[in-house]
Amino acid sequence: MLLSDDIKVLKGIADKTAEAFYSAGLFNLNDVLHYLPRSYERLSEIKLLSAIECDGKVTLSGRVSSEACLIRRGGRSILQFSFSDESGSARVSVFNMPWLKKSIFPGRKIIMNVYARRKGVSVFLSQPKFLSEKEYEDGIKNLKPVYPLTKSLSETLIRKAVAQVLPLAGDIREYLPDDVVRERKLMPIAHALRKMHAPSDMEEVYAARRRLAFDEFFLFLARMELLKDGTEKIKSSYSLNDPERSFEKIRDRLPFKLTSAQITSLMDIYRDMKSGYCMNRLLQGDVGSGKTIVAFLSALAICDDGHQAAIMAPTEVLARQHYEDAVAMSRKYDLTFKPVLLSGSLKAKEKRLVKEGIKNGDHNLIIGTHALIQDDVEFKDLGLMITDEQHRFGVRQRMALAVKGRDVHVLVMSATPIPRTLGLILYGDLDVSLINELPSDRLPVKNAIMGNDEHKKIYQFILKRISEGRQAYIICPMVEDGEMEDVSNVTEYTEEIRRIFPPEVRIDMLHGKMKSDDKNSVMERFAKHETDILVSTTVIEVGVNVPNSTVMVIENAERFGLSQLHQLRGRVGRGSYQSYCIFVTGAESGRVSKKTSERLAILKESNDGFRIAEEDLKQRGPGDFFGLRQSGLPYFKIADIYTDATLLKETKQSLERIISSGSADLGRLKQALSEKEEMSYSDFHGICL
Ligand code: ADP
Ligand code: MG
Repeated sequence: MLLSDDIKVLKGIADKTAEAFYSAGLFNLNDVLHYLPRSYERLSEIKLLSAIECDGKVTLSGRVSSEACLIRRGGRSILQFSFSDESGSARVSVFNMPWLKKSIFPGRKIIMNVYARRKGVSVFLSQPKFLSEKEYEDGIKNLKPVYPLTKSLSETLIRKAVAQVLPLAGDIREYLPDDVVRERKLMPIAHALRKMHAPSDMEEVYAARRRLAFDEFFLFLARMELLKDGTEKIKSSYSLNDPERSFEKIRDRLPFKLTSAQITSLMDIYRDMKSGYCMNRLLQGDVGSGKTIVAFLSALAICDDGHQAAIMAPTEVLARQHYEDAVAMSRKYDLTFKPVLLSGSLKAKEKRLVKEGIKNGDHNLIIGTHALIQDDVEFKDLGLMITDEQHRFGVRQRMALAVKGRDVHVLVMSATPIPRTLGLILYGDLDVSLINELPSDRLPVKNAIMGNDEHKKIYQFILKRISEGRQAYIICPMVEDGEMEDVSNVTEYTEEIRRIFPPEVRIDMLHGKMKSDDKNSVMERFAKHETDILVSTTVIEVGVNVPNSTVMVIENAERFGLSQLHQLRGRVGRGSYQSYCIFVTGAESGRVSKKTSERLAILKESNDGFRIAEEDLKQRGPGDFFGLRQSGLPYFKIADIYTDATLLKETKQSLERIISSGSADLGRLKQALSEKEEMSYSDFHGICL
């Protein structure tokens, strides 16, 4: 067998099962080898019901203490029974496994691994996995990899495939020079892949993961390096004479005075545009610092000079918001903007029309999602390309390719707080402008950390703000466990609070699996204040701007990385009203762990994204870096720029050495890059035990 062979060559995988793999993006054996566990489980030792404090998986031992009853609701069946151990009893719910009914009878002794949720004095158990004595004994000894699953791809199938593919890992060639492997104490690549799937202990997992993280950084940096093309500055045919004039025209009519950091950044940009060379600039500014207006004023100078500017946003919601702002601004100040929105959700015919308009110059301010660089859009005369919330490096590279060889000014904007040293590595080829102050009308956001037994207080607080005319966000965490999906989590939460709040309070919800039209209309209603509370997953993390929304409640805050919490908090405090951010922990107020309260305290003390990222990094020990993905940079599936900061620096040094040594190593590297172009890791959310 070869790694390039189709998945069907494996024993026990025929046409129908192969489809399950294909639909999960796994086509050949190499794909299986790179489909990495998302965590590792060691069965926890048996616990007493009374000792359960937080939500999560536990192992329990005791007896069935009631008859099992089977309910059908919607398309689902729920089997329920009582379970008791020496410390108490709890209700167990089993979804969609009606056949278990005959084996559940009062008095039967069971050991089970089960999801537990505490509500006040009661504990609720769901989706148990029953274990024999032997299974329990083995389980507490050995590490078991947990793979990301899809609807059709089951755990059994994945394990079956991995077991057959692992012996082939040796076929993966080492592409790093020996001295790099030695100097950085890296596991050889084949070994690392093997150990990710079958580790004996966590030490091995850490070492294997470190090697793969090194590779991710290495390949990323190497591609950037090769994109640079030797020549540093490209001559521009969009050299403007007097971009400042575009700003002066409306400066005194804007609803606010720009902060001096905004003006300095804008002047940096204008200077680039006059220089005769292409701008290649990063505009970095914390959430709410006002990057959008700087982007618009940059685009205005290009449009005033008769060319086109494009703004690319990471989500439809955000693209639409920018588009509407641009239209409003253009009307209000009678600008030269002729804005258009190009998004993935347009119907084919509309899209064609929009594209035609871009090609023949009917539109000069083109706002859109990735569709802008993906769907071979032809511009008549593109002079400036802006990307908003540019923390997706993958996109950055594709954009670099899209504008490569064309003399377009490039401005990327980011709110991701990247400590300076890392920024130099990741954005080394960019000039940087920093907006390091917030508009002066802002009141600092007030923070609170609360327990999950204090919801009544929290809801009363929200109600009070709503009665004053404000709005609120509530963030439900993403649930990692397959059995309780995101969607149902948000849906259930929304239904629950609809019952709690008076009927005149308008509550809506938003999650990633909604159709983009629906997402847009939910967001639009919220922006127009036709909704009072928006219950959402982290999809609203980036960019959304509704200054009238002044309360942010984040449920299970301990499950998020600090930088992500900071981004979420950035959705409030965007206007002149006092705003509030409430971090709700999964535990009751008296029982929050020391670690959680220390971490959250950082957020309470600081509103500076850079500091938060650095402090968080300091608080974690080296063995601590699994679990919470910090940066939310989806391009790196395994590595994390904060927690692996040292590794990133080492990687950079190694790469520089290879490049400066020229010759054989460099040749091999280029070869490896082209081979690895298509390689991707499975969605790897870090490892938590
Ligand atoms: P971000 O940097 O997070 O993209 P935005 O550009 O969305 O921030 O700006 C946040 C809010 O602040 C917007 O409502 C915007 O109109 C407002 N704003 C921008 N600059 C200023 C300023 N100098 N003074 C007051 N408000 C401002
Ligand atoms: Mg923004």
